[in-house]
Amino acid sequence: MGQLTTNADVAVIGGGPGGYTAAIRAAQLGKEVVLIEKGHLGGTCTNVGCIPSKALIHASGLMRDATDAKEMGLAANISLDFARTQAWKDRVVKGLRDGIATLCMSNGIEVIDGRAFFTSSNTLTVETEAGMRTVEFKKAVIATGTEINGVPNLPYDHKRVIDSDDALSLREIPKRLAVVGGGYIAAEMACMFLRFGSRVTVIYRGERLLKGMEPEFGDILAKGMARLGGEVLFNSEVTRLDGENAVVKTPQGERRVQFDRMLVAAGRTPHLDLGLDKTRVKLDHDGLVVVDSSMKTTDDNIYAVGDVVPGPQLAHKAFRQGKVAAECIAGVKSSFDNRAMPMVVFAEPVLATVGLTEEEAKAKGHQVKTGRLPLTTSGRASAMGRREGFVKVVADGHDIILGVQAAGEGADALIAEAALAIEMAATLEDLAVTIHAHPTMPESLAEAAEAALGKAIHVYRKK
Ligand code: FAD
Repeated sequence: MGQLTTNADVAVIGGGPGGYTAAIRAAQLGKEVVLIEKGHLGGTCTNVGCIPSKALIHASGLMRDATDAKEMGLAANISLDFARTQAWKDRVVKGLRDGIATLCMSNGIEVIDGRAFFTSSNTLTVETEAGMRTVEFKKAVIATGTEINGVPNLPYDHKRVIDSDDALSLREIPKRLAVVGGGYIAAEMACMFLRFGSRVTVIYRGERLLKGMEPEFGDILAKGMARLGGEVLFNSEVTRLDGENAVVKTPQGERRVQFDRMLVAAGRTPHLDLGLDKTRVKLDHDGLVVVDSSMKTTDDNIYAVGDVVPGPQLAHKAFRQGKVAAECIAGVKSSFDNRAMPMVVFAEPVLATVGLTEEEAKAKGHQVKTGRLPLTTSGRASAMGRREGFVKVVADGHDIILGVQAAGEGADALIAEAALAIEMAATLEDLAVTIHAHPTMPESLAEAAEAALGKAIHVYRKK
């Protein structure tokens, strides 16, 4: 008996944010769509990334709030049953995953459970539990995301030395957690476990956390971690594990760090074991898929979106690119030409950025104007008892907004307005004269723009 063959206008490989969005948008535009997923619909984001991490981070924030509320005269004896917290998080994840399955079904998308690889520029073979299947397609979208990197001298045993997937499914809070890494996943996890009560030591090679982001973020984050009782060892490296200890080379000499669990967060590599040699798809020097602004690869039949293409590994990038790919395939005018790519680190405090930092704007040759407002000036921040942080606006010589960085409670919501301002080429005056509701955090964005224009009201000024 021959292999079962399915014909599709569009075959999407990978059911994460990039893939399921491309599939649904293509179906909305009248295409016959097949979506192939080897794991769970929702991909990294829904199952082991954005959603489970933010659910647990939210719960950990409630622990912190309950502790801090004493200052407000609230006595809260909060207790933690982490197994139940995890069960709640699992329900959140399942609910969203089931929602994606329902959306696929309601859009008439055939979802195939299996691992796909190309056998030509218009054929895929899919390994399923029931055997091999063939999918013949007019266009395909690669949305296969990434897998976790390891560190050679710290191999994961998934018990003591764990990755982010393991960390998000622990059933008890580690008493002593070592975190190796200084990127956003390491930062979020370290802050989350600190709030849940772990003793956390971050071991990081660099001299400032969140390398490549606004330099102030690294400093404010290190202070935030210290306030929660955490310790960061900068310019440091684990040389070996010795029983209960990690032996760490620090600038001050060798240190032994006791740990029950060590989370190694060392980045992620694209999933491209897909038989690409049977196609005309090319990779760049970083091993990412080369695409144009329609998300088309160097093979006319094949598109690629999300973490497998250059740019930050973020779900909202994948969502946008999935829509662009589907629209271009369907002949709708569309292009991935966004100017603003926001990013949020859900740490202590929340850090959010979009567009250029001051340093980046200067390096690009702009005449830079900045306005910076500490959150001590914000009525809302004071009313929430969260006065740490700032909002900074970066504009060019014509007052056009180039970037915004914000640290503090509510920075994640505030950054959306900044992204819109950049997309619309808004000026400092546009932000400053727009009436913002009081007392809210986005007010600080408007006032940071006023600060850049030299007319902020709530800033101390010596006459
Ligand atoms: P993925 O979501 O990785 O989906 C790819 C899918 O393809 C997977 O389901 C995989 O099983 C499937 N697949 C791979 N190969 C094959 C094959 N051969 N055949 C069939 N299926 C295949 N981003 C944010 O924007 N905000 C956050 O707060 C955030 N937090 C994160 C926290 C953590 C701990 C992690 C790990 C990531 C986080 N991210 C966050 C990043 C985000 O998850 C990714 O950027 C996003 O999931 C990328 O989407 P994607 O569609 O490109 O790939």
